[in-house]
Parts: sequence; C-alpha cells; structure tokens
Amino acid sequence: MVKAIVGANWGDEGKGKITDMLAQQSNIVIRFQGGANAGHTIINDYGRFALHTLPSGVFYPHITNIIGNGVALDIAKLVDELTQVEAQGVPAPNLMVSDRAQLLMPYHVLQDTYEEARLGGKAFGSTKSGIAPFYSDKYAKTGIQVCDLFDEPRLRERLTAAVELKNVLFEHLYHQSRLDANEIMGQLLELRERIRPYVGDTVSFLHQALKEGKSILLEGQLGSMKDPDLGIFPMTTSSHTLAGYGCVGASIPPTAIEDVICVTKAYSSCVGSQTEPFVSELTGPEGDELRRRGGDHGEFGATTGRPRRVGWFDAVATQYGCMIQGATQAALTCLDVLGYLDEIPVCTGYEIDGIVTNSFPTTPSLLRAKPVFTKLPGWNCDIRGCTNYAALPANAQAYVDFLEAQIGVPITMVSTGPKREEMAYRTPKR
Ligand code: GDP
Repeated sequence: MVKAIVGANWGDEGKGKITDMLAQQSNIVIRFQGGANAGHTIINDYGRFALHTLPSGVFYPHITNIIGNGVALDIAKLVDELTQVEAQGVPAPNLMVSDRAQLLMPYHVLQDTYEEARLGGKAFGSTKSGIAPFYSDKYAKTGIQVCDLFDEPRLRERLTAAVELKNVLFEHLYHQSRLDANEIMGQLLELRERIRPYVGDTVSFLHQALKEGKSILLEGQLGSMKDPDLGIFPMTTSSHTLAGYGCVGASIPPTAIEDVICVTKAYSSCVGSQTEPFVSELTGPEGDELRRRGGDHGEFGATTGRPRRVGWFDAVATQYGCMIQGATQAALTCLDVLGYLDEIPVCTGYEIDGIVTNSFPTTPSLLRAKPVFTKLPGWNCDIRGCTNYAALPANAQAYVDFLEAQIGVPITMVSTGPKREEMAYRTPKR
C-alpha cells in the first residue's frame, strides 16, 4: 500500500505534522524530490524539529527512512541534521540513501548565490541552497551520483569535467574565484565516509517491500504551485512537487500509489519573492495580524526565517492544486488560526480582463488576476486543540463544508493546532 502526502499550494501547508502522524503507521517513509531548501516543522515527544532532508519517519525505530534517487542530496547538511536529531535524544534512525541520488555540491550553492546577486531585483527569491543549479546539472548530465563516490577514477573524471564548466561561469560571468577540483575531491572523499553506512540500492529494496505488502509513505516537499511544469512557472522550484513524481524520484510504479493526501491550510501563505503572483494576498495591518497569528509561531519560513506572505483561502488555486496531485482526500490545517475573525473571505474566483473564472490560469494571466471573494461568517472563539469534529462551532463546520465543495476533494482531517494530537477527523459530505 503506497500513500503520498503532498502540498496543494505553495508549501508550508502543515505537511510536517500530518506526515509525522501517517509515518507512524508506515513501514517505509521516502523523500522523493527537492533538497534542503524547505523544511517541515514536527513537534513530538522529543521536542520541536525543523527537518529539511531527513524523512519524517526518523522518530520511529520501526521505520526505514529513504532518501530517494530524486532528491538533491547535500551530504554535509544530511549529516548535520542526523547529528542534531540524535543530540535531541532521538535514537539513531534507520536510514537508507539511494546510490542513484545525485550530490548537491558546494559549487551549486555558490552558483545559486552568485546568480541571485547577478539578477538583483529580478531574482526569484531562491533559498540559495543550490537547488536550481543542481537540477540543471542533473538534466545536463554533468551531475554526480552517490555511486560515483565509490569509484574514485570515475569520480575524479566527472568532477573535473563539471568544475571546468563551472569555472568558465564563475570567472567570466560572475567574476568570482575559480574552483579547485582537487580540493573538492578531498572534501567528497571525506563526506563519502560519513554517508557510507547508509548507501544502498533503494530501488530493489522498495520493489521487494512492495511485493511483501509493506506500507510505504511518499513524503512531498513544497506544493503544487511550485511544480516546474504545472505550477506558477518560473516562480517554482526545480524538482517536481507532485505525487506522480514519486514514481520517478522513488521508483514506485504509478499503479502502486493508492492514496494521495493533499494538505492545505485554512488560509494561504506563500514564501518567495514579492513578484510572485499571489491573488488572495492580504497586506497591511490585517495581513500582519494573520501572519502573527498563523502556524504555531507566526508565518515565518522554517528554513529561511523569512516572513511569509499571507492571504485568504484560495479555492481556485487549491482546487487546481488538488486536481494535479490526483488527491483522494484532503487535510485542512490551521483552522484554529481563524478563530479571531467575524467574517472570513474565501477567494472563489479570479477576475481576469473583466471575466470571472474559476480555472487556474497560466502565469501571464495569473499576474493580471484579481480575487473574487465570498464572505463566510466566522466562529469567533478559540477552537485550538479540538479533536471532536462534531464539537466544532457550526460556523467552523460550515467553513469546512464550503471549502470541500469548492475544492471537490473530501476533507477527512481538520487540524486545530500544531501538536500531533490536535486533529479532528471528519466524515466527508461528498
Ligand atoms: P510544511 O512545509 O507543509 O511541513 O509546513 P510547516 O510544518 O513548516 O508549517 C506549518 C506551520 O504550522 C508549522 O509551524 C506547524 O507547527 C504549524 N501547524 C501545523 N498544523 C497546525 C494547525 O492546525 N494549527 C496551527 N496553529 N499551527 C499548525
């Protein structure tokens, strides 16, 4: 049985908490895309964690945690995260790193940083983790796989070729110092020893696990809007954020994914550059208030600490986001955050050049879209920690019913606080 848990929006939907809950019931948890450029927040009995690379099953000794071949692997960051988790009292996790995963190199981080500086005000708001240069190199076939670390002549040859290209860019486009392949080779050999115990053939492992009927959880990072094909290009990330990519990035057969759980928040948040279209955005003091009240410590990036832009629930984007994920069910998080409002607007349409639509458009049209809001009554009380759906105020239930009808996907879980147990299960209306 394979389940995927993915974001319907811009990321930060609160996937961390739901993944942590679902991980507990799984034998295997896999990261299949992205790198250390985004983070989940997980709060459990060991404390509060911001995981960037490690799969969310690391807190449970019965789980095999896999870094799939589709991940941008920054070994130094992975090792730091492992050390940090263990320092907070978590037993050494059961971890496996795909021998086909590719390495995010220090020069990818440099290139990302230099490029953002070169673009100046036109920058995309990259986290400068090297993700875009990493995936560019993968598709240009100049990337280095984990397996290459164990064949030194091959590693040296591939590294030398990659560095030759980077040096042209670094010297002549960015006017920065040249890289030294020998120095990087030395660093890689050191990192190889740190990762050696975890490296394995995850493809065979997973296909065997499927034969044995193991329960497998695909853990997505970011959300639908950040997918480079179906998201808001080019304000996207560089790897596919859709459950379907689990077939490639984790080598899971397409027919094996039975359940796709899409996580969405009761309001919207978006981290990235100001130039990114964000139709339902709420600015000014009202926006500041929602940002301050959002999440468990306000809406600030788990990786970057950057303030997130916030807005009302965007039903147009979320319906689309769930559709392209192939959602079978949805989890709605942070409903508790909205308890302070008398009235809650929901974006139910986009007005583009005088025409109102509820289908999610391509970027040029999206940039011209103005929100059409439907206002729903608030419930004006604190529902934090409520675990009994039927005990939620009628207006809170009506809000959830309305969102469900808008997005066309059954909402089965409603999260009422950051802690794992703060969850109300709901029988969908549809
Ligand atoms: P992810 O990237 O989708 O995993 O999102 P994060 O977990 O980083 O961000 C969600 C933030 O909201 C975190 O600070 C969570 O602790 C918090 N959070 C998750 N669910 C809820 C909820 O139902 N209510 C509140 N108030 N905070 C939540």
